[in-house]
Amino acid sequence: MPHSPPDIDLGACDREPIHLLGGIQPHGVLVAFHPGSARIEVVSANAEALLGRPPSALRGQSITTVLDQAALHRVRANSAAGPVAVQAGGRACSALLHDNNGLSVLELEPLTESVAQADEAALSAIHLLVSPLGQVRSASSLLQAAADGVRALTGFDRVMVYRFHADWHGEVVAESHADGVDSFMGLHYPASDIPVQARALYRRNPLRLIADVQARPVALVPPTLPETGAPLDLSGAALRSVSEIHLEYLRNMGVGASFSVSLLKDGELWGLLACHHHAPRLVSATRRQACEVLARMLTLQLGAEERGADAASRAHRATLLARLVTGLGEDTSLSAALQAHGELLMDLTGATGVALLLGESLALEQGEQPLLLGRTPSRDEVLALAARLAELPGASATVHTERLASLHPPLAARADVAAGLLSVRLDPQAPRFVFWFRPEVARTVSWAGDPNKPVRPAPGDTRLHPRASFEAWREDVRGASLPWSSADVEAAESFRGALVGVVLRHAVELSRLSRALARSNAELESFGGTVGHDLREPLRGIQQYTTFFLEDHGASLAQDSREQLQSVAWLARRAQALLEDLFEYSRLGRIELAWRDVDMQALMHDALAVVSSRFEEQEVEVRQPRRLPRVACDEVRIRQVWENLLSNAAKYQARPPRWVEVGYFGPGEERPEAAARHDAPYVFYVKDPGIGIAPRFHEAIFDMFRRLHPAKDYGGGTGAGLAIARRLVRLHGGELWVDSSQGQGATFYFTLGRGPA
Ligand code: ADP
Repeated sequence: MPHSPPDIDLGACDREPIHLLGGIQPHGVLVAFHPGSARIEVVSANAEALLGRPPSALRGQSITTVLDQAALHRVRANSAAGPVAVQAGGRACSALLHDNNGLSVLELEPLTESVAQADEAALSAIHLLVSPLGQVRSASSLLQAAADGVRALTGFDRVMVYRFHADWHGEVVAESHADGVDSFMGLHYPASDIPVQARALYRRNPLRLIADVQARPVALVPPTLPETGAPLDLSGAALRSVSEIHLEYLRNMGVGASFSVSLLKDGELWGLLACHHHAPRLVSATRRQACEVLARMLTLQLGAEERGADAASRAHRATLLARLVTGLGEDTSLSAALQAHGELLMDLTGATGVALLLGESLALEQGEQPLLLGRTPSRDEVLALAARLAELPGASATVHTERLASLHPPLAARADVAAGLLSVRLDPQAPRFVFWFRPEVARTVSWAGDPNKPVRPAPGDTRLHPRASFEAWREDVRGASLPWSSADVEAAESFRGALVGVVLRHAVELSRLSRALARSNAELESFGGTVGHDLREPLRGIQQYTTFFLEDHGASLAQDSREQLQSVAWLARRAQALLEDLFEYSRLGRIELAWRDVDMQALMHDALAVVSSRFEEQEVEVRQPRRLPRVACDEVRIRQVWENLLSNAAKYQARPPRWVEVGYFGPGEERPEAAARHDAPYVFYVKDPGIGIAPRFHEAIFDMFRRLHPAKDYGGGTGAGLAIARRLVRLHGGELWVDSSQGQGATFYFTLGRGPA
């Protein structure tokens, strides 16, 4: 690549050893003067080559001996905006001026091309980046355009866009390089490569050129200022030389010249445009300036790009949230609603699993928490995590991490579902949370090799190599999820706000419902007690009168009148039976179970004795494969259950041979599918070969007063028996269900809970 070195070796005059804290690079001359008196105080040791006079001849003189008054004026007026072309020592130079420590620091560099030439190059590079303005461009194409632009401007072999990560390690995210130069694209560099002081400097001073890493720095004369005893502060000087350590680092990378431009976004260091050249290379002040403008345009466009993407993502999340909140409002059960909208809930933050610990109001309707949706750790693991988070100082805050194991080591083994956690707390007093989980994303980071190991290029090989002779080492990053963005966190917090509102509404609704329920229970009981009692007396009266009347006058009545009276008596008996059942059912809400260890065999036998008349009448055989076990239950209530099931089994058989089978399945024993519908150590059953029940009535028969046949057929029950039996079984924590089909007999199964809570 053609490259135009300065036509004069400014470093050649400076051969004395340097023991200074500061010095400048030899491609320019520095003159510091007093702004008031114009008296020159400090001069770089290489002054003679450019200005024709050594430092000793310049110090103490007026600055106007270097630059005439008009040029000085122009430089002072324009230098903040960029270099100014002047004549100095009889040669065209670019001049930069800044004030520091009460001195004006003038830096002169010989111009190596015409101003017009430089301007043209600058314009075309900027054009690269800006021309498609208004057109949508991806961030990566912007970065690429910037890298290409800077390479065109500087002629460097390699231009990288180096982006800082949150932990300040850097990554090469775009690159433009000459043919034959190895790519550094995608390489990561440790944070220590650009330490904190260097980053502070990069923020203040966005341009740094090291035109020749082999060149020896030029001393300042005098090395320290007489007034302060300290060297001149060069942090604002473009010519400032860098530390020997940094030069060594660059030499080890096989770099001959280096140039970097800070990328500042919203005042913060976002990254660098980092340029390397295999040989020394000078970039004129004008072109450097153009690179800085380019860098600013880049970060502005990136900022606009990011804000656009951010706004789109926020709008998307707001829509999700609105749909979610509307969805939650629709369902009466919050947990059902959340379950139904699990996908939305996960989309909201880009999670793959959600755990909701909503606390008391939900436990009521759901029995157990937490609610787990998608891929999450187990219930117990989630509860342990909640306990851990509740202990954290400032625990009411939102917590998010891409490495949950470092916060909560027990979940280290669950990185497959929960490497990342985003948590919002719903109640500062109680461990009520929403957790969003993300799985680990195993990725490989290619670290650039150790910069302290020098490169030994093969003789004649002038290519740039990654440092440490390509020994970039790969690191598998495990146990971490994708990071949570600020938009993720904000969406989670908005959801918290919405959820707290919904939970409150649900809590109010629940308490209203339970008040209504309490009221209707009380009403039912008072009906069963008072109204039932009030009705029972007249019904008994009707029965008695009709019975007596039939006894006394039945013979003298016409056949149809007698039958009418008989049905009045029958109806009154029936109405009374209904009332009794209703009364009993209404009391079930209040009864306390007397749990006892009970011999089920004996209990079933007692029940059989109660209903024996029906068994005898209908000639029903009782079959029992084996004796029933002992179990815990309230014997009075369970006897009632047996009575109902046995009498039904005997009752609903149209033809002989009639039989009823009573049995059970014990713990660990194989069960037919119908018996295994509810899980419990014991499942008891009563089976008959009778008329059966069509599947669509399998639930209806457990409704109060629900009968499938006219009251007069099959011995006329009230239709309350199964409703009461189921309620009694459920009071025990068990379940009662039927397996049957029309004309195929029926098997009623029931289980019992484990005993008093
Ligand atoms: P009932 O007092 O009428 O027997 P239940 O509540 O005990 O009332 O039963 C409700 C209905 O379920 C009955 O009317 C009957 O139609 C049906 N049923 C109950 N047990 C059986 C069975 N073993 N076989 C067929 N149908 C049955």
